[in-house]
Amino acid sequence: NDPEGNDRLSDLEHGDAVQAANVSFGRVLALVKPDAGKMILATIALLIAATSGILIPKYGGKIIDIVSGDLDTPQEQNEALNAVNNTILEIFVIVVVGSVCTALRAWLFSSTSERVVARLRKSLFSHLINQEIAFFDVTRTGELLSRLSEDTQIIKNAATASLSEALRNVSTAVIGLFFMFSTSWKLTLLALVVVPVISMAVRKFGSFLRELSHKTQAAAAAAASIVEESFGAIRTVRSFAQEAYEESRYCEKVDVTLNLGLKQAKVVGLFSGGMNAAETLSVIVVVIYGANLTIKGYMTAGALTSFLLYSLTVGYSISGLSSLYTVAMKAAGSSRRVFQLLDRTSTMPKSGDKCPLGDQVGEVELNDVWFAYPSRPSDMVLKGISLKLQPGSKVALVGPSGGGKTTIANLIESYFVLEVRLLLNFLKYKQTSLLLVQISIVSQEPVLFNCSIEENIAYGCDGNISSSEIENAAKMANAHEFVSNFPDKYKTHAGERGIRLSGGQKQRIAIARALLMNPRILLLDEATSALDAESEYLVQDAMDSLMTGRTVLVIAHRLSTFQSADTVAVVSGGQIVESGGHEELLSKNGVCSLVSISK
Ligand code: ADP
Ligand code: MG
Repeated sequence: NDPEGNDRLSDLEHGDAVQAANVSFGRVLALVKPDAGKMILATIALLIAATSGILIPKYGGKIIDIVSGDLDTPQEQNEALNAVNNTILEIFVIVVVGSVCTALRAWLFSSTSERVVARLRKSLFSHLINQEIAFFDVTRTGELLSRLSEDTQIIKNAATASLSEALRNVSTAVIGLFFMFSTSWKLTLLALVVVPVISMAVRKFGSFLRELSHKTQAAAAAAASIVEESFGAIRTVRSFAQEAYEESRYCEKVDVTLNLGLKQAKVVGLFSGGMNAAETLSVIVVVIYGANLTIKGYMTAGALTSFLLYSLTVGYSISGLSSLYTVAMKAAGSSRRVFQLLDRTSTMPKSGDKCPLGDQVGEVELNDVWFAYPSRPSDMVLKGISLKLQPGSKVALVGPSGGGKTTIANLIESYFVLEVRLLLNFLKYKQTSLLLVQISIVSQEPVLFNCSIEENIAYGCDGNISSSEIENAAKMANAHEFVSNFPDKYKTHAGERGIRLSGGQKQRIAIARALLMNPRILLLDEATSALDAESEYLVQDAMDSLMTGRTVLVIAHRLSTFQSADTVAVVSGGQIVESGGHEELLSKNGVCSLVSISK
């Protein structure tokens, strides 16, 4: 519903674009730094290869001068033949050296580029995964996906392969120009008349492309988001027969990219044609004037031939540069987006900030917390929640759906470091510790990873968990039986997001995971809501043993679950409207009515 939403990350004023590109060029180079030695070697190889390339016309011209000399006597002819043979031998040596250096250059540049992209992807991923949850609420996964895969790929190409091409072209052009000047400065100046015209065209073309690339990438990211969403929710799509709708949504985004691409194609066509005309015309002018000079004896036929070959090589290099300009502009856009993400500071404490276990932990206090989700900042979801969880106590939250119970659990679990404007009164932990590792949540919709059941249960426990421990946890969570019935038992893969398991099975895996993790603070958000009555009865023991000795926040709509709670709080409309002991509330006759609507 926000087609331009992904521009948020890349929304710079056009004027800023060039500046930002310059800044990020330095940063792209910084990525190459660890391979600086190889890059220097590659550059030397490149210079040698370029020189050898431009030397060929010189020797070509030499042969022409030999064969167009006086060759009347057999003696003269023999000498000429020998001279030609020698020249060919020299050319052969130059070609061998040039080829070896070309191979070295290509190999070094490409292997460096592979390392650069790997480095960039790793650091971007590690940066993104440490962002606070609120960031993911407002950023589409598809967008992050395209930053990580496409943009890094574009940067990779620009940072190395295209850089090597550019260096080759520049050095060839410079060396070629030097040879041209030394052959005939008059002809060279004439040939260079077209350069300002070409460079103006290239500049105009470049700024056009930069703008277009910006839009194209945004559209591509939007398309990627739709792919992510529709395949991720394929069952829902299928059951509501919305394939055609999803298709049209995707096609719409692809068409945006297509139209931009078509526009680009048109301009690229015009530009290439214009460049071609300018180049050919300048060559023709040079040939006419050069022929004049040769006829008048100011230069030899061989020198004219060499000159024409030089100018062709130089022209070829310059037009190569102009197409690399396209790549550079694209890469500028990509690196701007990637570096913007890399520059984003997370409000989440780094895992190094985790505090060691203390005696006091396990107490959570919410003190007049006001909260709005970052994606909907004007809509206060919690309006002054004060709640105290004594260590080892059990607090139950009940109340109507949409009242804010899950939000309270989420806040305690992972939102606890927030932008100040969102959280008017900070959550207070007695030890002021942000004990990320201490809190475990079994949520309404448990999420499993696309790995084995075994790994899913052991998720969050670092290190040595034996398979018997995993099995024990599964037994307690009443999951052992159904897992054992799978042909691959605990090695069975759960599928993406646990798609190969039923809702109840997923919840039992999640309970086993929480049991194994042994957290100090446990958040149960309708943890058994997807279980049928019998399974729920069976896991009740597991739930009870899971809850003993911990600080528990349990969200439930079944009477049995919160009967044992020390405190029951009724959450409605983002506020705690009633709270007290279970009996106390029952006698007021408040809870029962609320419990029935909380389903
Ligand atoms: P409960 O668990 O009591 O049913 P929730 O805490 O899930 O209620 O939701 C409370 C309110 O917060 C609802 O109005 C819901 O629309 C809103 N809400 C929940 N999650 C988000 C989110 N990620 N972004 C924006 N609003 C949300
Ligand atoms: Mg909920």
